[in-house]
Formats: sequence, structure tokens, C-alpha cells
Amino acid sequence: MPRINTAFARLSPSYLFSEIASRVRAAQEGHPERPVISLGIGDVSQPLVPAVLEALHKATDEMGSAATFRGYGPEQGYAFLREAILAHDFTARGIALDADEIFISDGAKSDIGNFQELFAQDAVIAVTDPVYPVYVDSNAMSDRCGECADGRWSRILYLPCTAENGFEPDLPDGRPDVIYLCSPNNPTGTVLSRKALERWVDYARENEAFILFDAAYESFIADPGQPRSIYEIEGADEVAVEFRSFSKTAGFTGLRCGYAVVPRKLKAPAGSGMMSLHDMWFRRQSTKYNGCPYIVQRAAEAVFSPAGQAQIGHVLNIYRSTAAVMRQRLAAMGLRVFGGVHSPYVWVQTPGGMKSWDLFDLLLHEAAVVCTPGSGFGASGEGYVRMTAFNSRENTLAALERMSAVL
Ligand SMILES: *Cc1c(COP(=O)(O)O)cnc(C)c1O
Repeated sequence: MPRINTAFARLSPSYLFSEIASRVRAAQEGHPERPVISLGIGDVSQPLVPAVLEALHKATDEMGSAATFRGYGPEQGYAFLREAILAHDFTARGIALDADEIFISDGAKSDIGNFQELFAQDAVIAVTDPVYPVYVDSNAMSDRCGECADGRWSRILYLPCTAENGFEPDLPDGRPDVIYLCSPNNPTGTVLSRKALERWVDYARENEAFILFDAAYESFIADPGQPRSIYEIEGADEVAVEFRSFSKTAGFTGLRCGYAVVPRKLKAPAGSGMMSLHDMWFRRQSTKYNGCPYIVQRAAEAVFSPAGQAQIGHVLNIYRSTAAVMRQRLAAMGLRVFGGVHSPYVWVQTPGGMKSWDLFDLLLHEAAVVCTPGSGFGASGEGYVRMTAFNSRENTLAALERMSAVL
């Protein structure tokens, strides 16, 4: 028999969203007269903005003419987009990077999932708990995590993030090689302060660890004093890779474009010398990836135009104001509410120590409202549920009304 990667057999089944879907289906069939409203949506709902559409149309037309047709592009992305990202996201915020330290891709999920290939098989990873499952599962597929019991892998260091520590994880007890951080966070909707980020960068420098920083939600940060990139922290360019995406920023979840920042200063021992993570990622991408489509990169470039910025700013404000209403109404129901200020996610503590799934069932059956049980994101998510600001204002207000009648 051919030998397969048996690490796949040890993956915990990802049943969270299918379990939710089947409970919702059953509830809806029992009460067809009252349509269920979902506050569990993890995808954007506003359409692409006009500046992006215009760029897509124009680039599409270029593909139909011999003079302007583009075939294979550079695997790392076109210079026009790397330069636009550099100028807008980094240089404008006083961060010194080079355009060739920015690698364009089809999204942050692939980059985050693929990046672990650069680390040794026995590298130890640390993740915050609750967690975006991609960090854990991509390492588990590479057989780096040991055995899984009760949803916990024996070789992963888990860093609990709860109301008790203000969702700022303590430094690990063990010795990680790679630390995954996500801020603004999915699922908790909370942000790491500048101080917390400084602590992590100092820790990584002192302990020779790398930080993989997921900034997919940076554009939701409303406070200009709050760092939007880990490179706003002194020394981060020696230890951190940053992942970004146009998905949540500009509604590209279906169009697909993201980027990874891999500074040249990131180095680790290999044999008698040092190897650059930048060179490794360059080699990895050139070998296994043929680049984000030209028309999509033109669409992404348009996000940075003055019109594009104004238009996506408007869309982001729609989500932000929905999140603000959610926070306010949920708190008025007597619930403890976190996140939702610099994020489309609101993290709600269950009342009276209820289990996450019990509150889920209560809201589904009594209010016909869907949320996401926090325990589905990790052990420390027990006792919370996630609600998102991606549904329409009208539906969200109706859901809140129904909930206040129940809680
Ligand atoms: C949505 C999301 C991403 C972005 O994924 P894409 O592949 O770029 O769509 C990355 N990280 C987290 C935590 C997310 O929620």
C-alpha cells in the first residue's frame, strides 16, 4: 500500500460550522414562520466598491488585446501593487521596509497555512486560545503537533486569552520557536495594545523565536494611536512576519488577494551559516505558486486610490457602527461584551456561567438568532459566544430585539 501522511488521520474533525448548520436547519424546520437571523456570518456582506470594479473592468479589457495582454506574472506580485502597499501601509506610518519584502498572494489563509513549511519538523509552536484554526491545523498536517486529546495537541503551547487577563496572553512557560498572534483578533475582536506587542517583540528577540503576526483586520482599527502593523514596534523587523489581506479590508473574500511581509533581517541558523527567511519564502513561492491574477492585483491597487480609500472607509464604517450598536444593546441586556471596537467581532460572555453551546441553543430556539459558540475556537473560548457585525443593520437590530426579549 502507498504510505500516506498519517498526520491527517489525527486532525480533529472540524465540525464547528457543520454542527451549527445542522442545528439551525432543524430549528428552522420546526418554526418555518420565523426566519432565523444569523449573527454568525464570518464573511463580508457589502459588495466591492466602484473604484475596485472600475479597475477590474479596465484590467480585463487589457487582457483581450495583444499589446496589453499579461501571461505569467512575477510570483511575488507586480511592482505596481507592492509599491502601493509599501507607500500606503508602511512608509506612510513611518515603517522602513522595501517593496521586495512584500509578497503578494491569493490571500492570508494560504500564506499563513504555507509559512510553517519554513520551520523544522520539531519546531514548537505557540498559539493563543481561542484561536483561528488555520494556525493549528496547518502545523498538525505537517505532523509537528504531537497527539491530540480533548482538542489539545501535546506539542503546542496554548496561551489562554480570557476576560481575566484582558485578552492579553501571558508569555509562554515553555520555549516556542514560532508564536502566532492575531490582532485585531478573530474570534475575540480584541486588540493587543502597543505595550503588549512590545512585550512580545522583546520576548521573541531575547528567546530567539519568530512571531507570525496576522493583521487581517488591521483596517478596522479606529484609534490612530493603536499600532496597525507589528513593524511599528522597534526591532520587530528582526523577528516578525506579518500577514495582511484585502478580504476584510475591501471585500475581496471572493476575489482573493493578500500579502505577506518577510523582512530580510529575519535569519536563523542552517548548518554552519545563517539562512534568510525572506530567501526561503521567495524560493518556496517561486516553486509552488504562480502569482495572484493580474486583474485582481489591479483591483487591489485601486483600493489605495483616493476614491478607493474613501469608498472602503464608508463600508468599514457600516460594519463598525453595526458593531457599536451590538455592543451597546448587548451590554444593556446585562451581558459582558468584549471586542467590537476595532473589529467586526463581538465576544460575549455567557450569563451565569452557561456553556457556549447552551447559550447558542437558547438563542437559536427562543430568539431564532444564530451565534458561534466560543468553545469551537478552543478550550479558553468556553463560556463565550462570537457575534459578527456582517449582517445588515436591519437584520442585526431585529436579532437584538429578539434577544432582549429572551435574556
Ligand atoms: C479572514 C481572515 C484571514 C484572511 O483570509 P483570506 O485568505 O485573506 O481571505 C486571515 N486571518 C484571519 C484570522 C481571518 O479571520
